[in-house]
Amino acid sequence: MTTTTTTSGAAVPIHREPKAHASPQPYAYPPEREFREPDWSRLPGYKDVTEAEWTSAKWQRQHTVKNLDQLRKVFGDLVPEDLADSILKDQQERATMSMLIPPQMLNTMDEGDLWGDPIRRYMIPAFEDRELEWPSHPLSQRDSLHEADMWAVEGLTHRYPQKVLAELLSTCPQYCGHCTRMDLVGNSVPQVIKYRFEMKQKDRYEAILQYLRETPTVRDVVVSGGDLANLPISHVEHFVGSLLDIENIRDVRLATKGLMGIPQHFLQDDVLAGMERLARKADERGVDIAIHAHVNHANSITPLVATAVRKLLDMGFRDVRNQGVLMRGVNDSQPALLDLCFTLLDKAKIMPYYFYMCDMIPNSEHWRLAVYEAQGLQHAMMGYLPGFATPRIVCDVPYVGKRWVHQVDAYDRVNGISYWTKNYRTGIEHDDTDALQRMYEYYDPIHTLPEEGKEYWRKRTAESVTA
Ligand code: SF4
Repeated sequence: MTTTTTTSGAAVPIHREPKAHASPQPYAYPPEREFREPDWSRLPGYKDVTEAEWTSAKWQRQHTVKNLDQLRKVFGDLVPEDLADSILKDQQERATMSMLIPPQMLNTMDEGDLWGDPIRRYMIPAFEDRELEWPSHPLSQRDSLHEADMWAVEGLTHRYPQKVLAELLSTCPQYCGHCTRMDLVGNSVPQVIKYRFEMKQKDRYEAILQYLRETPTVRDVVVSGGDLANLPISHVEHFVGSLLDIENIRDVRLATKGLMGIPQHFLQDDVLAGMERLARKADERGVDIAIHAHVNHANSITPLVATAVRKLLDMGFRDVRNQGVLMRGVNDSQPALLDLCFTLLDKAKIMPYYFYMCDMIPNSEHWRLAVYEAQGLQHAMMGYLPGFATPRIVCDVPYVGKRWVHQVDAYDRVNGISYWTKNYRTGIEHDDTDALQRMYEYYDPIHTLPEEGKEYWRKRTAESVTA
């Protein structure tokens, strides 16, 4: 370094040669993927579909695929025979959700490699995708997050101190194979008879609103389902409008995967008009209203999705945020996660927010990652995105709630048991003096464990059967 000397004798630098430059990185930005609506006419079943049909929400719903025969009509011979057999076997023996996929989502699959396609892997599971010895973790549960245990009113989960989850309906325009609410959402399937809400919808909504009026410590409501895209806009407007009338409610988040699965829904005039009235009312009340989307792969972001998001932002929704689910074979790599985050941000103005670890529902082991794998992916994502858009990977620990994966208190890597603590009481622990001292357990998928850990679970399972 060249220096000069001041009158007091101190040496000061007089020139600095800039030497930093863009370095080769483990992740190469920007993503290489082209941003365009995939040409639907390449698929045999859509070769004569017009643009007017494609952009119609009604057409999309009428042509939503509900079974293997309809899937074959779309893809024709591009569905390999062994995949078709495996999907059928899965529906009979493993699937916890029925098939329901709008054309918009089918069009984002790679028809040349349906076995390997990430969206096919979570929307249309095949028997051969699943783990053979341990398709389910022995401690998996239908309502693995105990959301129903924490209902204050039917469909209103009060788990965190200041926020609640309102499940308005139990259907969606698309059914995801890994759905954490498989206990409640969708049609019954051979493996799962679904729970049905018992109260009349109108009474249930009123009971939810009344609870919130009487509980001033709640300020934040996630309005979910199911999927709001399946609720008539007049019902959405009535419920959310009533929420906005409650003095203590300061934050409202509307959860919909349909924004990605069937963006055509949000481009309908009546839906846009209803959403705009809600955005205006929220603004007048000084309440933040935002949309929470659920996108798991960059291929799902198309110009139609971006157009729908843009309209919502322009009408005053504070944000559209993404809560994806981390799944093996879908997005379990640094490039897959960063491609998704950058595509969300750069192409669709959607804020990457969370990635949830796939929950411990039955038959989900092939999708789930171990906590240490999730920690590695969180590390691999840091530094590339703006800090405010760097999603946290979170583990939804039963009876605890979302914990950032690096918050684990103790971790037995051999048996795959992580231990977590919490700093608040859930809605069912008012008189539980140990709730804040207790260690809560979460379990890695057994197939990720060393042989000693696998043996531990074989023995533990055998003992519980004989007990
Ligand atoms: S959209 Fe959400 S609620 Fe509906 S099936 Fe998918 S994950 Fe479940």
